[in-house]
Amino acid sequence: MKFVIDWGHGGSDPGAVGNGLREKDLTMKIGKMIGDMLGEYEGVQVIYTRTSDCYLSLEERAEIANKACADFFLSVHINAGGGTGFESYIYNGNVSAKTIACQNVIHGEIMRAIGNVKDRGKKRANYAVLRLTNMPAILTENLFIDNANDAAKLKSDQFLQQIAYGHVIGLEKAFGLKKKGGQITVQKDTVKDDITGHWAEESIRKAIKTGIIKGHSDGRFGPDEPVTRAQLAVILDRLGLLK
Ligand SMILES: [Zn+2]
Repeated sequence: MKFVIDWGHGGSDPGAVGNGLREKDLTMKIGKMIGDMLGEYEGVQVIYTRTSDCYLSLEERAEIANKACADFFLSVHINAGGGTGFESYIYNGNVSAKTIACQNVIHGEIMRAIGNVKDRGKKRANYAVLRLTNMPAILTENLFIDNANDAAKLKSDQFLQQIAYGHVIGLEKAFGLKKKGGQITVQKDTVKDDITGHWAEESIRKAIKTGIIKGHSDGRFGPDEPVTRAQLAVILDRLGLLK
């Protein structure tokens, strides 16, 4: 499975700018996070259209994917122009059923992952990278750089991780990806707070999956909260250590 991840803009083309942020930097950060997370899956090859701050035409970006005979093309962007929220695009001409299915599932997973953000909808447009690529292709516009609230979110690496995580879970579902080495995958919505990237993430996921440590009644896991003596007793009991 070959996925091309396209970091929108770059080099002499900063993309949209606002609130001290440049689109080309954010697309690089998010795109790299997505690629790193995809590295945890079996049989997935990640191809980047650019790996540094350089300029690439839209045609060159599509050509990289076409030459690689990629299975999927993802272009990551940040919006601008006076709005707020998330939207995704596929080509507004003929597209495969797979393209539409991918947009549905990826868009949905991103919205779930980023929480309280306006859903601007699943859209279609005549964008060059979508038109010129021979495989299912999607372009995501991840919040507005010129909106103060959106920009504040985009300044948080934790939030960028959530954006990336949504893309990856969407791809996992759309392409039936499996994690390497039989790792236990627990869907993010098992707990409300984002534990992706936490130093103890794997252990936390196992603790939730096995029921040894459960989340709070409001759905949070609270990975960095202390354990009380009563909670420890319950955990030891669940482990079968209290006869
Ligand atoms: Zn852009």
